[in-house]
Amino acid sequence: MGISSLGKRTMEKIKLGVSACLLGENVRYDGGHKLDRFLTDILGQYVEYVPVCPEVESGLPIPREAMHLEGDPSSPRLVTIRTRQNMTNRMIQWALKRVAELEKEDLSGFIFKSDSPSSGMERVRVFNEKGMPVKKGVGMFARIFIERFPLIPVEDERRLHDPKLRENFIERIFTLRRWREVLTRKENRGNVVDFHTKHKLLILSHSPNYYQTMDKLVARAKDLPLKEFYRRYQAFLMESLQRRTTPRKNANVLQHIMGYFKKLLPSDEKKELLEVIDHYRKETIPLIVPITLIHHYVRKCNQPHLEQQVYLNPHPLELQLRNHV
Ligand code: SF4
Repeated sequence: MGISSLGKRTMEKIKLGVSACLLGENVRYDGGHKLDRFLTDILGQYVEYVPVCPEVESGLPIPREAMHLEGDPSSPRLVTIRTRQNMTNRMIQWALKRVAELEKEDLSGFIFKSDSPSSGMERVRVFNEKGMPVKKGVGMFARIFIERFPLIPVEDERRLHDPKLRENFIERIFTLRRWREVLTRKENRGNVVDFHTKHKLLILSHSPNYYQTMDKLVARAKDLPLKEFYRRYQAFLMESLQRRTTPRKNANVLQHIMGYFKKLLPSDEKKELLEVIDHYRKETIPLIVPITLIHHYVRKCNQPHLEQQVYLNPHPLELQLRNHV
């Protein structure tokens, strides 16, 4: 798959593919757009977008006849609603060429337009012979993109309005960017070990099982050919971060961190920190509260191993991703 072959250049901004109408481009069938202000005004400060409009780029005009998916949800047809033109082959041929071009773009993620028969990544309506819809489809282009790049994080703009899904997606794109930086360097086991050391607690917050599996993989890195070691590590990394964090998993990580300096703290400060972690576990305060306190103690107790943990700083504070309860 494409991630290894993609990671050949050092990048400054994270590159994300995006359905063009979400950026406010007037490319929809009715000549309108679906501007999403979070994407343009907030996330847009940290990423460079590569806009893609499958329908227009495959040669259809603006405005144009609306389309929908029909038939078997696992391999539907793309058909115009009024004049019943079958656009399936045209779209597939174009999409295969476009994903080959996108391989060169080093994308760290893709944000799709929800519900679109071309761009929707899940639960797109597919109509059966009786004209009844089931929400089980994937847009034609989105399907081909996901099949080509199974480990690249994808989301749609509607799901990104959910703070937890938003945090998870952004954590994954920033992690993939950091991993790509490892891939720009000469392959060597030490670089992966170093990356893993910094990401251990982040991985633990998503999946204790992956944390153990990846620790074992890194411990026996010398037993595997270098390329295979990279390939497995990369797959585990992206799969692990797809597992959702929960207050319980995060609270366990916070307590784990506290273990490093609890003997150095006076009992009243220890008690206060434990109480804050407990409030977070019960979802009465947001994650940013115990994290801020822990930052303070990590510095105060001089814990360089913890200071380098990405978990304490996985994405820009300004995105306020850990401020929700
Ligand atoms: S949903 Fe996709 S195909 Fe439709 S206008 Fe937006 S980018 Fe183009």
